[in-house]
Amino acid sequence: MKVRVAHLYPDYLNIYADRGNIAVLERRARLRGHTLDVTGVGPGDGLPDGGVDLFYVGGGQDREQALVAPDLAARGEAIRAAVAAGAALLAVCGGYQLLGRGYRGRDGSWLAGAALFPLETVAGETRMIGDVLIECSFAPGAPQTVAGFENHAGRTLLDPGAEPLGRVVAGFGNDGRSGYEGCRVGTAIGTYLHGPLLPRNPWLADWLLARALENAGAAAALEPLPDELERAAHAVAAQRARARGGKA
Ligand code: GLN
Repeated sequence: MKVRVAHLYPDYLNIYADRGNIAVLERRARLRGHTLDVTGVGPGDGLPDGGVDLFYVGGGQDREQALVAPDLAARGEAIRAAVAAGAALLAVCGGYQLLGRGYRGRDGSWLAGAALFPLETVAGETRMIGDVLIECSFAPGAPQTVAGFENHAGRTLLDPGAEPLGRVVAGFGNDGRSGYEGCRVGTAIGTYLHGPLLPRNPWLADWLLARALENAGAAAALEPLPDELERAAHAVAAQRARARGGKA
């Protein structure tokens, strides 16, 4: 099955090797006999003809965010409709912030967002940096942990009733105070976790791939992969985060 992927602003929002998340999805799809048809979407570009099964947007500094924010905000209705119809989405850090209602930078400037996630972000005086471990309970089965790395000035505040991605076990998370990290709206996930995220969190990669395959009309059951290396990388990252103790 071909999975249509829209990689938004790959030349602008690609900090901390976030592009690696696409490589992981491509490999995990190929090992199951599927292919990812990835289209880079820059400012002014159209979305892939025929529809999108998975949107991906990485992180970036305030400057790069300002360069793409108006274009991304203008795509809000199309992205919200696609996700409501079942498309998967992964947004990391700066991309996550701009998929909320907006981001207020350190200079007080307001960048209106795509309003997919029910949240807003305000840059603080200090940066939240370090290894992070969160616990997610939205996937079937036992709660799963997600390990990664965060580096953001933004403090993200979820609306009352909004669903976080997970509970912070170690690290700052959305704002360093709520005890939660990220946001999930159906098949769409936003998170602060770089790393890149997916190589050390194979269950999350497969969850996104399964949602994208469902949207493409394929059966979502993915046979498990050995993932020894990935599990080992997760364990190392999780241990690093736990060694950091609670919040930094
Ligand atoms: N510029 C945003 C912030 O500092 C996002 C940073 C990032 O994507 N790592 O919060």
